[in-house]
Amino acid sequence: MTEKQIVVLGAGYAGLTAAARAGKRDRVTLIAPETRFLHRIRQHETAAGHPEHRPAVADLIRGRGVRHVRARATRLDLTARKVFLDTGEAVSYDTLVYALGSRTAWHGVPGAAEHARTAEQAAELAERLRSAERPGTVAVVGGGATGIELAAELAEAHPRWRVRIVAAGQVGGWFSARGRGHVLRVLERLGVEVHEQSTVTAVDAAGLDTARGRIPADLVAWAAAMEPHPLAAEAGLAVTASGRAVVDDRLRSVSHPDVYVIGDAAEVTVPGTGTLRMGCATAQPMGKYLGRVLAGRTDRPFAFRYAVQCLSLGRRDGLLQLIHGDDSMRPTVFTGRAGKLAKAAIVGGVVSTLR
Ligand SMILES: Cc1cc2nc3c(=O)[nH]c(=O)nc-3n(C[C@H](O)[C@H](O)[C@H](O)COP(=O)(O)OP(=O)(O)OC[C@H]3O[C@@H](n4cnc5c(N)ncnc54)[C@H](O)[C@@H]3O)c2cc1C
Repeated sequence: MTEKQIVVLGAGYAGLTAAARAGKRDRVTLIAPETRFLHRIRQHETAAGHPEHRPAVADLIRGRGVRHVRARATRLDLTARKVFLDTGEAVSYDTLVYALGSRTAWHGVPGAAEHARTAEQAAELAERLRSAERPGTVAVVGGGATGIELAAELAEAHPRWRVRIVAAGQVGGWFSARGRGHVLRVLERLGVEVHEQSTVTAVDAAGLDTARGRIPADLVAWAAAMEPHPLAAEAGLAVTASGRAVVDDRLRSVSHPDVYVIGDAAEVTVPGTGTLRMGCATAQPMGKYLGRVLAGRTDRPFAFRYAVQCLSLGRRDGLLQLIHGDDSMRPTVFTGRAGKLAKAAIVGGVVSTLR
């Protein structure tokens, strides 16, 4: 039997987890630019100036039959089954695993791309805060999990800076009443100014224009939304209006069955659970499942139920929110040190189960 060539695009929570499991049976090529794992769920810590915890990709795939090609895919030819790289090489595949994840979305807000910095630019944010001549004001745009974690972390690490969190709706509005209450109490304790119902309409060098008026800021951290990598749509895979690839119950592209799509790049709907949100919490289980499929260890459809949502709120506080399998809230939360320890254990578990 000839070995199949499996090419995995992207070494995030989804891609690396799938590659490390699939390499046991077939020849796997993992294509991603980084030498150290892109540990996105800790980028708010990097932005606050804390040391990075990023294991080497080589260590994570050691002994797993995976060849890592350090490069970016620039184009896919889904008919010829080829991936073109920024190194000038082209790599052929029998099966492609598309796991290019997502990135922060600007949604066309004027000035945002020019003046704001994102979690992907965490090191630059840290440097700007560290090297500023005097403490100023930083506005964190986004009332979702990333915005809250960033605002709390920055406020705690830089108590002389004034930190503002600016949200189009409510900050943490999807949590249970107790969960949101805890988030707001911690932000208040850390001195974070909360601006809700304040959709940002423009960004410039001195701050934000919002639906409720002007918010001055010396530095803007943008965490308003995430969008999938555009290569899937550019290549002609079937995608939704937001650019996520449409897949079947085995995570295969509905337009190209020799392409699997996992992680933030995929629009996955699980009966009884619903359409999965973007998150490490959904990306890694998809990677584990697909790794088992490719290693010939299961032929069942992908199944997924949620269990908890968790947030870090600075170095000493956190929130563990219990949820139903369909991601709806239960009333129970664990806060303070218990919440923080739970979050740290979950983040640690993510790394230890990458391979
Ligand atoms: C600060 C922050 C905190 C977060 N906290 C949480 C949390 O607590 N819980 C949670 O569930 N989610 C959280 N998220 C969201 C989570 O990080 C993402 O949903 C998750 O990273 C998606 O995983 P993925 O494997 O699909 O893609 P990614 O992690 O985005 O990985 C994509 C991979 O593709 C590679 N790549 C990109 N372009 C190319 C290219 N052209 N060619 C080759 N390779 C390429 C990248 O280098 C990377 O290896 C957080 C995000 C941020 C920014």
